[in-house]
Order: sequence, then C-alpha cells, then structure tokens
Amino acid sequence: MGMRYRMLGNTGLKVSALGFGAAPLGGVYGPFTESECAATVHQAIDLGFNLIDTSPYYGIKLGEEVLGRVLQGGWREKVFLATKCGRITKSDFNFRAFHIIQSMEDSLRRLQTSYVDIFQAHDIEFEANLDMVFTETFEALLKLKQQGKCRFIGMTGYPLGCLQRALESCQLDVCISYCHATLLDQTMLTRLAPLAQKRGAGIMNASPLAMGLLTPSPPEWHPAPEAVKEAARKANAHCASQGQSLSTLALKWVLQQEQVATTFVGMSKRSELQENLKALEGPPDPVLLEEVRKILAPVQGVCWPSGLWPAES
Ligand code: NAD
Repeated sequence: MGMRYRMLGNTGLKVSALGFGAAPLGGVYGPFTESECAATVHQAIDLGFNLIDTSPYYGIKLGEEVLGRVLQGGWREKVFLATKCGRITKSDFNFRAFHIIQSMEDSLRRLQTSYVDIFQAHDIEFEANLDMVFTETFEALLKLKQQGKCRFIGMTGYPLGCLQRALESCQLDVCISYCHATLLDQTMLTRLAPLAQKRGAGIMNASPLAMGLLTPSPPEWHPAPEAVKEAARKANAHCASQGQSLSTLALKWVLQQEQVATTFVGMSKRSELQENLKALEGPPDPVLLEEVRKILAPVQGVCWPSGLWPAES
C-alpha cells in the first residue's frame, strides 16, 4: 500500500497523510549527517511524501540551511514547503511585524527558494500579548501572502486552548499542534478538529511519536512528567517483547484519524523512513493496540505546561 493523500482544509493542497518533519535536520534529536539527511529526504519524496515542515528555530537556522541544500537539484519543486517565524531560540520570541517580514526573507535565503507554501507563527503560547499576535502578526502574515512570498498562513503551538483562540480570532488557512494526536493523547481530535473544520482551516498534526516517547530512545530533554515516560517505556518494552514496534503501531493508529490532514514525523535516517513506511501497510493490529492502550490508560491525555500556558490548557 502506498502513500495516502488528503485535502488540507480549504487550501486546495492535496497533502500526503505522512508529512516529513525536518526538525531532526537541525540536530534537535541529536547528531546527524547531511548526506544521510539528503538521502532520507530524497527517498521520502520518491515514496510520495509531498510536504516538508521546518522552522528557523530547528538547530537555530541550521535546519533550514541543511534543508535548503538538500532540496537543490529539482527537489524543491516536488514538495510543498512549510516554515515558520517568531520563535528564535528556546526562550527568545518576536512576533512583531518587522521581525516576521525579515524572518521570511531570511528563511527564503536559507531555503534557497523564492516562496514557501506555508508560513506560520511558531509556538504563539510563548507570547504574553496574544491580541498583538492576532492583529499585528496576523496582518504581517497576510501581507506576505498577498505578496506571494507564501501561499498559505497559520499559527502553531502546544496548548489547544491557545490555538482555539487563534482559529476564532484570525482567518487562518492551517494550524499545527503537536503531541495531541498520539496513542498518549487524542485531544486534538475532540478539541481542535471540529473548530478547524468550521473555520475552514487545515489541521496538521506533529510529533505522532510524542517527540520520541513512543520510540525506544526518547530525548533527555523531554518535558513529559515522569509517569508518562514510565508508561511509554512499558509500552515500548511490551511491543518489543512481541517482536513489534510501538512507533509503527503509533503511526498506523494516527493514519486512521481522517480529521487530521497530515501528520509530520521527524526523521533524519533512511532506517527511520523504512520503519515508518510500514505504517502505510495496513491498520494497527487490534490486539496489540488494545494492550498498549491499557498500558497507557493511566497517563492518557496528561499534558505539560508550554510557554505561558499551564499544563491543562
Ligand atoms: P516525533 O514524534 O516525530 O519524533 C521524532 C523522533 O523520533 C526523532 O528522534 C526521530 O529520529 C525519531 N524517530 C522517527 N521515526 C522513528 C522510528 N521509526 N523509530 C525510532 N525512532 C524514530 O517528533 P518531532 O520531530 O518533534 O515532530 C515531527 C515534526 O513535526 C518536526 O520535525 C517538526 O517539523 C514538526 N513539529 C512542529 C511543531 C510546531 O510547529 N510547534 C512542534 C513539534 C513538531
């Protein structure tokens, strides 16, 4: 079974149900080699991935630079390219119009392209003045769209309450939230999808592996409470004891969620790509899914704080 495609809100873009998350190309998940990244991205495109997501924040500009080089030689034209603005470092943000406009120019230069398909304000929950984001930032994004520097605009963040406000306040084409449509947390489907559909916005889901928790080796910096990490460790061990992969199960499950247009999975190695392509082979094994659900049940929907928003928001 090959790649599946879905309409992204009202954009008219038919995007692959699995999108390529390029955060690992900035070293966000540890060391990588550029040649292996290039091989992974090229192979993914050949296998039907048509949407790639990055940000100046990933590797503090490195991720965009690497992706820009990797997409040279005719690859850029084969994909919808999404990048972001406003998040500069872990703790440094700027959603003022002049920064957004400059950030676009810098991203286009690093990505070696004349336009991006999608441009989004990155992690808006870190901005205290959301009214400013919903007026000044939004107008800057609209201006860039009118100028043809991007085709579609959106906003991203972790707390769903924050994204709900964004969707209600601005006419966004798309939005991204992450870690909320996974085997650990399904609230994107109940809290965000109905509103996005009403507002005509496409939902892009990120971190289906819960930023590595649903893999055997999550990153040290993971913000989840220890109980969540422990449950994820148990689920990984359970799948391994059956000769199965929790990551594949997690992706198979996410592919069944039709309200989500695309799901970005972060990869920098062909071995990860091959592993993740197994998700396209068919539905999740119902018995294994039920066993994993039971293991994860005590921590289902447990969130963590992000930016200025508390955990349960
Ligand atoms: P993820 O949940 O996709 O996990 C990625 C991690 O899992 C990486 O360490 C990767 O190397 C590893 N991995 C991938 N496939 C694997 C496999 N089969 N077996 C073992 N390990 C595997 O998390 P992510 O990268 O955070 O999210 C995907 C993408 O979504 C990002 O690259 C980014 O583009 C986007 N994203 C956007 C936002 C936002 O806009 N605020 C937030 C998070 C993620």
